[in-house]
Amino acid sequence: MTQKIKRKWHPNFVKYVKFISNHSNYKGLFFEQSNNEQIKWVVTGNSKAGKNRRKWWDKKCKEFGIKIEAGCYAKIARVIHPTKFHVCQICGKTLSIEYIYPNKRLLSRFNKLFKKNLSPYKLTIFEMIDKFIKNSSDIEKLLKILEIKLKKFKNISKLKIYIKKELTDKCNKKFLSPGVMSNSPDRYDGFHSDGNCCRSKSDKGRHKSNLQRYGQDRRVYENWSDGDWKKADRLMSEFRKNDISADHIGPISLGFCHRPKFNPLTKEENSSKNNRMNLSDVKILRKDEKKEEVISWHSKFIWDKLKHKIKTDEDAIKLSNLMRKNLHYILIIFSMIDENGYSSFLKQFLNPKYSFFDYKFVGFNPKTGDYEKIITKKLTGKNQKNNINRYYRIAFKKLEEYKNVNNRKTHIWKSKEVDKEMDNLFQLLEKNNTRKATKQLKNVLKIIAEIGYKQFMQK
Ligand SMILES: [Zn+2]
Repeated sequence: MTQKIKRKWHPNFVKYVKFISNHSNYKGLFFEQSNNEQIKWVVTGNSKAGKNRRKWWDKKCKEFGIKIEAGCYAKIARVIHPTKFHVCQICGKTLSIEYIYPNKRLLSRFNKLFKKNLSPYKLTIFEMIDKFIKNSSDIEKLLKILEIKLKKFKNISKLKIYIKKELTDKCNKKFLSPGVMSNSPDRYDGFHSDGNCCRSKSDKGRHKSNLQRYGQDRRVYENWSDGDWKKADRLMSEFRKNDISADHIGPISLGFCHRPKFNPLTKEENSSKNNRMNLSDVKILRKDEKKEEVISWHSKFIWDKLKHKIKTDEDAIKLSNLMRKNLHYILIIFSMIDENGYSSFLKQFLNPKYSFFDYKFVGFNPKTGDYEKIITKKLTGKNQKNNINRYYRIAFKKLEEYKNVNNRKTHIWKSKEVDKEMDNLFQLLEKNNTRKATKQLKNVLKIIAEIGYKQFMQK
């Protein structure tokens, strides 16, 4: 879980590395090659290699008359860069190293004034002008947010030239931003994309603990899980604050609810579990079930058929695998419904209502996960609306994955009966009969669960 994953370079970036490291502008800039002849692009600044590189950049600064001071490496790296475009290591997209993107503040002013919803680093200021500035009143509005007073621009190309000369070339930070971060001498070319091209706006500026939480609730949305996810998230973060990893007794990737009940685990224990249940987990779930729902509605069919058949740890593992497969089938079914234009029918199975509450756990004990009491607060802000939109977005985005042919080939059921009942479902959806369609969907899921049941029984 805490292991670092070594990312593979994007093919575009591999090409970029080759191009830059062989370019005459970087002649003499130190690099090492590893065994497989891959260039070591990244070094740490204080290593021998890093110091070596810094010496080279110092020399270049002198050569170009740039004073050695804070920010000088960004300057010199920009000056000598042969194309002025940097390629992202992760996604392979290209962003300019020059100040041609609106910064956060300009973008939000622009979006407000022009009633747009542009996200950062998608368009340059020049592309925005071409696309949205059509007449003299548009020009006036833009000049206002750029705080340019004196000029009267008769035409748009003059305005663009002015912005290039006065803002871009002067590295104006008040309104503009380059597509990359300066990262010298660590990165060979002196730049790092910082995920501007491939990380969504909503992920930016979160700290690590938030990111972890983010990863958590995302899976809840993606698996269309039931349960008071808000309360569960809040309790989970109590564990995290104490550096303890909290484990679901019934994993949400198998169709269980995101409930505010966890097993405190060490990190090693948690990563070795890998979303599988053992016999004692199944026993706890059967017991908990007498008081509250533990399984999401869509996965209840397989769980109810098999939960009393589990006698050994081996059985529990088998059940885990079958439930995982069952959830793949379910998400394929949802993706087919979505694909045929019935997303509003599917929305009834999501639980945005939990977004409107917040919780505090008083007297929390991280070792046992117990607490004295919960303080509940009702929320009614704009944030809640955003959260709900994000919830829908993530849940439906996951279904996109299941529309992929390869995914369907790998995971789809091979049952004529299911196919037939799916046809019936679509007929009801076409007739707009939500109540009957919901009943029929449950019927399909029951038949799907039957497939898993048969596989379990054929020992
Ligand atoms: Zn990227």
